[in-house]
Amino acid sequence: MTPEKLAFENKKLEKRLCREVGRAIVDYNMIEEGDRVMVCLSGGKDSYGLLDILMKLQARAPVNFELIAVNLDQKQPGFPDHILPEYLSKLGIRYHIETQDTYSIVKKNIPEGKTMCSLCSRLRRGILYRVAKELGATKIALGHHRDDMLQTLFLNMFFGGKLKGMPAKLVSDNGEFMVIRPLAYVPEKDLIRWAEHRQFPIIPCTLCGSQENLQRKQVGNLLRDWDKQFPGRLENMLHALQNVVPSHLMDRSLYPFQTLKTTGVESEDGDKAFDEEEIEAPARVDEEGNEVQPSRVIPIAMS
Ligand code: SF4
Repeated sequence: MTPEKLAFENKKLEKRLCREVGRAIVDYNMIEEGDRVMVCLSGGKDSYGLLDILMKLQARAPVNFELIAVNLDQKQPGFPDHILPEYLSKLGIRYHIETQDTYSIVKKNIPEGKTMCSLCSRLRRGILYRVAKELGATKIALGHHRDDMLQTLFLNMFFGGKLKGMPAKLVSDNGEFMVIRPLAYVPEKDLIRWAEHRQFPIIPCTLCGSQENLQRKQVGNLLRDWDKQFPGRLENMLHALQNVVPSHLMDRSLYPFQTLKTTGVESEDGDKAFDEEEIEAPARVDEEGNEVQPSRVIPIAMS
């Protein structure tokens, strides 16, 4: 690729990232006037990307809000603790590095060979809530992206027996904070390209020595394969999470199946029980932000 073409592609990517993050923020009313947003920075590509795009949006947003980058140094062996302070100082952004040796606590309490993640993340969560309180943060922003959300949906279906994803916005479990995920619409592949372009000083995430979550990895591979084979499928799946039809699922707490009565009134939304159902893909937004009408209607055969 010529340098001109690369610069053009990167500009397009930047526009797309800003557009998608902005869209998620508006759709879920994630950031409001006067908010102080604590951006959790791990040193991975996603959280660097989150902070970077939020800073761009902050400069042009119609509302005023503050950003504070926060990193928790868990004292994992070999953690390069100079990288984030240097990077954040250069950015000129307000930041806080919280140093807490949770690594030793986890090592002491979890037998060798057992997974350390659940205790580690519980400790991390508690510390981050405390820091958010001390900093007077009104929102906590996390760097989960579209593919994380879809992976979670599949993991819950496959292993948890639940139709449950990862919310774009939720109240923290202690009830005190609004947690937001502004990258909810952003595909991971865009964050990978953006991290390369911006040359973020990535800190490896394997320092704790914990095993990778195999199931999440497998589901991630499945989604990546689908994305290659069937472009638009992951986008449709995200769309599906925003278009839930309780009457066509089986959760009796969401729809009154047991007391359902006929109405005698024709309705377009009623079930055409004997017809083949046609599934029309929703209109998509292409890389330039233009709406693309669906080209395929998929009949679902009823036997
Ligand atoms: S991978 Fe390591 S740092 Fe991350 S939650 Fe698990 S134990 Fe903690």
